[in-house]
Amino acid sequence: MFPRLRMTADQQNAFLALRTPARTRLLLSSVIGVCIFYLACILLDILLLGDVTLLAISLRFGVVLPVALVLMRYVSGDHPIVNKEHAALGVAILGNVCWCLILVSSRNPAVLGYFYAAASFQMVVTIAAASPFRPSLIASLLIFVLNYSVIWFLEGSSGFYVLQHLAVYLPTVGMTLLVSYQLESEAIANFLQSQENEVLKRELSRQNKDLARLSVTDPLTRLSNRRGTDGELSRLRLEMPQAMENTVVLIIDVDHFKAFNDGYGHGAGDDCLKRVARAMRRALPLDAHLARQGGEEFLAILPGTDADKAGHFAEAVRRSVRQLGIAHEFTRDRNRHVTVSVGAATGTILNDDDFQSLVDAADQAVYAAKADGRNGWRINERQQVAQDVA
Ligand code: GH3
Ligand code: MG
Ligand code: MG
Repeated sequence: MFPRLRMTADQQNAFLALRTPARTRLLLSSVIGVCIFYLACILLDILLLGDVTLLAISLRFGVVLPVALVLMRYVSGDHPIVNKEHAALGVAILGNVCWCLILVSSRNPAVLGYFYAAASFQMVVTIAAASPFRPSLIASLLIFVLNYSVIWFLEGSSGFYVLQHLAVYLPTVGMTLLVSYQLESEAIANFLQSQENEVLKRELSRQNKDLARLSVTDPLTRLSNRRGTDGELSRLRLEMPQAMENTVVLIIDVDHFKAFNDGYGHGAGDDCLKRVARAMRRALPLDAHLARQGGEEFLAILPGTDADKAGHFAEAVRRSVRQLGIAHEFTRDRNRHVTVSVGAATGTILNDDDFQSLVDAADQAVYAAKADGRNGWRINERQQVAQDVA
């Protein structure tokens, strides 16, 4: 036997909602099937009893059939599944009451044997409707009380007969209820398992997203890393190939950073890199891609940016770092703050070779800026436009 698993109110609602379409179809076909079975029993009324034919026809066709038709309509409609199940069990009880009325009205001694059909009818109802356990149990108890109230009024009934009847009825109904309980427990267990699987699936996909993000992020500065740059290039080429034709690439290198590390320690160097990264991020437009190339070197890609804007963005980056005002006493030149040298190159980055030659050109421009005393920027355009910032 399945141990009953507990569900929260939310889980119960989700469980019902999930099962409603399938339950509605099953309930409707069960109501139709049980109704046909119930009406066909008129033949037994006529063949086995014979003296209550008119009453049997009136009750089965005049009372139960119309109510069953209304029930079918109700079950097909847009109502809560629990109400439909209760209504179906209610109509089954009505059918049983009418059947009992037919049997107690007969004076034929064959009624005692026929009354065993009452047990099988209830079994048919419980199994066919595959009702949830609680309403099935309540309906079974009601029908039990009904049948054993009526049994004493059957033609030729005796205490011995009632005992005999109980010996058949109780195991039959008991086993039926047990099956109903097990089926429901199994459905609940499956539902809870599928919910758990769903939660695990969501957690896994979240972790995958986190991993994917981490794999393209530099852990120190939280900027993109080289792999992130590759991904960004693929995305840009796919989504805005036009903008790729006019791109500004900046290579940014922190000046005298070895001396900073040696003088202030590696921890201070790390903090400095983080602050420099944040300042540059703020200085560039949101759609610019800024990445840490490695060490104290950074790369910015500004797609869809005209060549004459290159100097503007290079200067914005340089200024933003200088304005941090991070002291650097170990530069061994007149500059006493952390600064960057910026190299810019402009052109197309439509394919990897183009991109690499722009990066190389920007790299050369950085060397030129360094050679010119650092804390400045240079543009590598063959026709070299240069500007110094003291
Ligand atoms: P230049 O002005 O010519 O660029 O001189 P530089 O000292 O900045 O250049 P160099 O290439 O000689 O030194 C770079 C230094 O950057 C070496 C290394 O100690 C430091 N560095 C690289 N990566 C990290 C890092 O992740 N954290 C810290 N704290 N330092 C780093
Ligand atoms: Mg450097
Ligand atoms: Mg360097």
